[in-house]
Amino acid sequence: MLEFTTSPLPNPTSPEERAAAMASLGFGTLFTDHMVTIRYTEGQGWHDAVLGPRQPIPLDPAAAVLHYAQEIFEGLKAYRMPDGSVASFRPQANAARFNQSATRLAMPHLPEELFVESIRQLVAADAAWVPDADKGSLYLRPFMFASEAFLGVRPAREYIYCVIASPVGGYFKGGKSTVTLWVSHDYVRAVPGGTGAAKCGGNYAASLQPQAQGIAQGCDQVLFLDAVERKWVEELGGMNVMFVFNDGTIVTPPLNGSILPGITRESLSAVAAEAGYTLKEQPYSFDQWQEDAKNGRLKEAFACGTAAVITSIGEVRSTHGNFVIGNGDGGEVARTLREALVGIQLGKRPDTHGWMTTLA
Ligand SMILES: *Cc1c(COP(=O)(O)O)cnc(C)c1O
Repeated sequence: MLEFTTSPLPNPTSPEERAAAMASLGFGTLFTDHMVTIRYTEGQGWHDAVLGPRQPIPLDPAAAVLHYAQEIFEGLKAYRMPDGSVASFRPQANAARFNQSATRLAMPHLPEELFVESIRQLVAADAAWVPDADKGSLYLRPFMFASEAFLGVRPAREYIYCVIASPVGGYFKGGKSTVTLWVSHDYVRAVPGGTGAAKCGGNYAASLQPQAQGIAQGCDQVLFLDAVERKWVEELGGMNVMFVFNDGTIVTPPLNGSILPGITRESLSAVAAEAGYTLKEQPYSFDQWQEDAKNGRLKEAFACGTAAVITSIGEVRSTHGNFVIGNGDGGEVARTLREALVGIQLGKRPDTHGWMTTLA
């Protein structure tokens, strides 16, 4: 495997400054001292793996990413374990998904061991930035973009892969226990045959205008319907969605090519089974959702993803009607699953699936 060189930090953060910065954690505003950078050149492959100071990246104004958006990313967390070590949850799954995204965006694959090693290098250097388990975690953001200076339209021949890290607390402001969703009937996030199943920045760009509309309606997040019939629930801008019924079944929409295959979503299928629930992949329409919420067949709904873990949906608004889910206060199933999953992630419950990887 590629050897990493370490370039020294000119101004390491002092322990006092770090403690002050980490006293109240938000999401994605505070960053650690280091970053990893690896370069790719066609014909040469991956080279120049560096663990160095976090700093701006010089970029030619013709760099392909700035024009044609060849960019992918991942999101995973490193957690403080009870024995003081640091571990992350299924980083190999993020490595594999990163390469699936790379394929769709016509970008080179990064060897999975190099992906995991890059995270290990960064977390080892920035271990002091991993919050205590009761305060939060270290959010890791690996990403890759086309750096070649060329305005013609074809896959670029040069790329930069980076990893940065951010100590985080809760994803939603104010630690609210439920979120209000805006269901967009005007815009879609992804189309069949498009890039919806790839974790690329472009998908997020497409979600921001509807997100702004949702915020203007007093909502926290947008839920998107399918692009063809505008009928079937797909997912949120950055999280998958699950529905809990009064017979104990949990339903999530099947991966149809335009839904992002969440690692939380997949892991919950095992966690739910262990907690005595059956998770089914089944299409679910907006109209049925509204009806089930009103007739009481639907008990709970929640969003799931690495950043916000499991977040109950209290209320839904849209131009086709507003409704409350359960008593609007979240529910028992979401709480049970969250505790089970977070218990594994923080090393407080047995890791029977071999999901945890020690990093530092
Ligand atoms: C990242 C992401 C998710 C959640 O994936 P996890 O692996 O569970 O974090 C869901 N939907 C979209 C659009 C995403 O980008």
